[in-house]
Amino acid sequence: MTITPIPGEPGRYHVQATSLSGQYIVDLADWDFLGSCNCHDHAIRIAPFLSRGETPERTECKHLKAVKDQYLSECLKCPATRKNLVSAFLRADLETRNAT
Ligand SMILES: [Zn+2]
Repeated sequence: MTITPIPGEPGRYHVQATSLSGQYIVDLADWDFLGSCNCHDHAIRIAPFLSRGETPERTECKHLKAVKDQYLSECLKCPATRKNLVSAFLRADLETRNAT
């Protein structure tokens, strides 16, 4: 999977799964930050649910998931961001455990 940031467009990436596959555009900010992709999978299996305000079975195609994985890895390299992210995850986990 080749992921290339689109110059001048923060949060948007060109994604190419293989050298023979098409190139897609992933936007991390779309759909209230769930993200979007212009591939067939996202257009057919995910976007229609989101546009009706429903929750699809999954919210990521393989291109969007690859960008998010890479983005998270980059974010976790920064100590301050890592502390904020992990703290937020821990708080959410604690609230989930307390709610059950
Ligand atoms: Zn896709």
